[in-house]
Amino acid sequence: MTPRSWQFDNTYARLPEAFFSKALPEAARAPQLVLFNQRLAEELGLQLDGDLATLFSGQALPEGAEPIAQAYAGHQFGGFNILGDGRAILLGEHVTPNGARFDIQLKGSGRTPYSRRGDGLAALGPMLREYVISEAMHALGIPTTRSLAVVTTGEQIFRETQRPGAVLTRIAASHIRVGTFQYAAARRDEANLRVLADYTIARHYPELTESNDKYAAFLHLVIARQAALIARWQCVGFIHGVMNTDNMALSGETIDYGPCAFLDTYHPGTVFSSIDTEGRYAYGNQPAMAHWNLTRFAESLLPLLGTVEEEAVAMAVEALNTFPDLYESAWLTGMRRKLGLQTAEADDPELIAALLTWMEATEADFTNSFRTLDDPTDKDAAFEAWHTRWQARRQHEGTSEADSLALMRSVNPAVIPRNHLVEEALAAAESDNDLAPLNALLEVLAQPYAYDSAPSKYHEPAPASACGYKTFCGT
Ligand code: AMP
Ligand code: MG
Repeated sequence: MTPRSWQFDNTYARLPEAFFSKALPEAARAPQLVLFNQRLAEELGLQLDGDLATLFSGQALPEGAEPIAQAYAGHQFGGFNILGDGRAILLGEHVTPNGARFDIQLKGSGRTPYSRRGDGLAALGPMLREYVISEAMHALGIPTTRSLAVVTTGEQIFRETQRPGAVLTRIAASHIRVGTFQYAAARRDEANLRVLADYTIARHYPELTESNDKYAAFLHLVIARQAALIARWQCVGFIHGVMNTDNMALSGETIDYGPCAFLDTYHPGTVFSSIDTEGRYAYGNQPAMAHWNLTRFAESLLPLLGTVEEEAVAMAVEALNTFPDLYESAWLTGMRRKLGLQTAEADDPELIAALLTWMEATEADFTNSFRTLDDPTDKDAAFEAWHTRWQARRQHEGTSEADSLALMRSVNPAVIPRNHLVEEALAAAESDNDLAPLNALLEVLAQPYAYDSAPSKYHEPAPASACGYKTFCGT
């Protein structure tokens, strides 16, 4: 594809006006480019001229952009609120030379009509964090929004202390959330709800456009995509941290990276987010929380599922009941691959559970355990027993050792964004203006399955002093 400049379209801004408000990025005194994702720009077929800091701080709008803030609602830690983009502006949709459509959003660009008491701003650290983790997720092959650029605005913002203000440019299949449907449903405006559903189907599930029970089919497919997504998270040890319904995208992409982090020591109860005091979004709870969010989504869709309430509810329940099996089977498929298994056998869930039990009991590093599974040296007798059982299972299926190992290396990352390394890189960038550790980390994370190519510090678990690691929303 021959790169070209922006090609904006603004279909979201053509929806009924309840769904958004016009909004403009705030003035920034001295914008400076911190990161620019050249590889992503190429994937988007983008050739950008002009000053990138001016562009990505929202000081010069791309031709054809019609900036808006999107309206939505959401259950935040279980409580329902009317929200909306309080610190983000959707510039519009860029259409690539291949015809693919992506939302271009500035995050941290100032107040909007939905800012409530917030300042609409973002600090550099959290925007860099979203950049690092979202790009790492993409490299791992997990559906996610992407990060095109981070700029500092030249303004100081106040959090607990003064911090450099920054804007992240986020690329997404769309920013339609479960909370967008909750917003339409809360207004009890069935016509608008239908417009939103038709729009989302056309954009993300076009195969359903002609279907005669398209809203039920839509619900089924949204559930299936989320089940697949969460299974991918669990298999790499990703903890989102704030799985509120406004942070769940209908496209099936991972979205809204706040206090997210990757598991180091395996434990299903792991929570990193300082605000998740009850462990609602703990690692092991993520599938159940996704199911809970999808139940809120199904409730929002009820008016479209049927005119007789009991029938609509029955359809919603039927769809929701598919989630546990869809999730379980996607997870099992993923875990079998992590063990280098190409076939399915009845005892596999037990074999996997036994490994996880051993990992939990010995506080093993999740990523490195899978990476070194075929090497029982330095491990205890319980692991050796498991290893013998696993070897028998592998021999039984008859896959060659080389094929099995190749499969394992294609799904078990050698490197993940380790919390202590992410923190170190963000601190160097934010406090010392030193981008070298961040750029080095980004290079390594771009090839997570490249075995033994990264320096050993990228493989090593956090030093014991980093235990009790916490992430902060940093909003
Ligand atoms: P988040 O935790 O980033 O998913 O945000 C939850 C809600 O709070 C969204 O509606 C955001 O737009 C809003 N929000 C977060 N931070 C700010 C801020 N600094 N100013 C205004 N609104 C914000
Ligand atoms: Mg959010």
